[in-house]
Amino acid sequence: MGEIDLIFYVPPILFSSVALTFLVLWHMKITPAWQWSAGFAQTAAGFVISTFLPEPYSAAFVSGLIFIGAAYCYGSGLLAHFNAPRLRIPRLLFAATYSIVLAYLVFAEQSLVQQLFLTDVGFALLLGVAVWIVARRASRPIDIALVVTSSIVVLDCLIRAIFFTFFTTSSDDFGDFATSLYNLEVSVSTMTICMFFPFTALGASASAAIERHQAAAETDELTGLLNRRGFKRALERDFSSGCPRGSLIVCDIDYFKRINDTFGHAAGDKVIAGLAEEIRGLVAGRGSAARYGGEEFMAFLPNASLQEAVALAELLRVSFANRDWHHEGLNRKVTTSCGVSAVRDGEATLDCAIDRADCALYAAKSAGRNQVMAEITRAADLRIGDSRNLPALARSLGTTRSGAAA
Ligand code: GH3
Ligand code: MG
Ligand code: MG
Repeated sequence: MGEIDLIFYVPPILFSSVALTFLVLWHMKITPAWQWSAGFAQTAAGFVISTFLPEPYSAAFVSGLIFIGAAYCYGSGLLAHFNAPRLRIPRLLFAATYSIVLAYLVFAEQSLVQQLFLTDVGFALLLGVAVWIVARRASRPIDIALVVTSSIVVLDCLIRAIFFTFFTTSSDDFGDFATSLYNLEVSVSTMTICMFFPFTALGASASAAIERHQAAAETDELTGLLNRRGFKRALERDFSSGCPRGSLIVCDIDYFKRINDTFGHAAGDKVIAGLAEEIRGLVAGRGSAARYGGEEFMAFLPNASLQEAVALAELLRVSFANRDWHHEGLNRKVTTSCGVSAVRDGEATLDCAIDRADCALYAAKSAGRNQVMAEITRAADLRIGDSRNLPALARSLGTTRSGAAA
């Protein structure tokens, strides 16, 4: 077997390996689009059929169909990856029209040159339209690389179509295809510049999957807010450029166990989701909020003063206390208590501020609930021998208190 023969085995082997990898990723629910696997499998099959099938007309027709199928699948993979409209009907109509013209050129015209021109241009247009749609959606480096490598595949098809149709005198006989310069060029360009395409597709799919899993691991399922881990990560990102500045609100639903016991766990979940909705609205664009525990929430407001945070917490408390729960099957009002603290100069993390906000929350609970308490301004003055003294201590040391006990 000569080197030229050997070269024709490489693309099908490479593309079937990539197809298999995508199939495994899809099976493991890592990539949402099975179309990548179908696209690369079809490309591998197209190479095998066009080069090795003994009957050249059938080989040309079937491989032409398979290549357009691959272009359709690549387009679907790209559109799915970038969450763009799928445009199934116009793309399928294009593929159907292409198939009819292909049959005409192969079986009626019996022109190899025209069939190859049609296949290259059809492939380029079908993939090119998807690349065009997603190009502006790519922002991550790997996604930009995917758009660039897809564009290279499109350009490669167009340049080949123009070159071999208008600038060379290739044989028009289907029997000569396997040994043609055209076939050699396809294999060489596939193994060189076009080989970046499957690998960037794999890279982009894998990195999108990692991001999705990271986001899921940092999000609370019931409320859609950040969970404790996500909150920590968000704050680390915020503080990467220096010490934190701002205020913290911690809130906890009052007598929540009674809600669960009286109305059931599902009703309790709705109450938790309701408070999450209030908090999300309150901090929207101002900071980060998280469900920190069962029915305990935390919000960090960068650059907000203690007074501003207390005012916001008070708004939250009143809005939540006024919510009507009849639609959720609860015939009573539900209230929340909040503790507020501000990050102090020299504090590199939020840990101390969280402790102070927790103390203030405890003070709000002990003082009768349904109220907002701010931290003690001079922490050193707080000598907590007995935690029952907290409310009194908080008030005597200038703790801000608002609201009224339920
Ligand atoms: P307090 O006013 O002192 O806060 O009293 P409480 O009854 O609210 O007491 P606590 O805050 O300790 O109550 C927490 C309860 O929240 C205990 C647990 O059964 C319930 N819980 C925790 N997670 C969930 C959840 O995801 N859904 C529901 N429905 N209940 C939860
Ligand atoms: Mg509670
Ligand atoms: Mg609690």
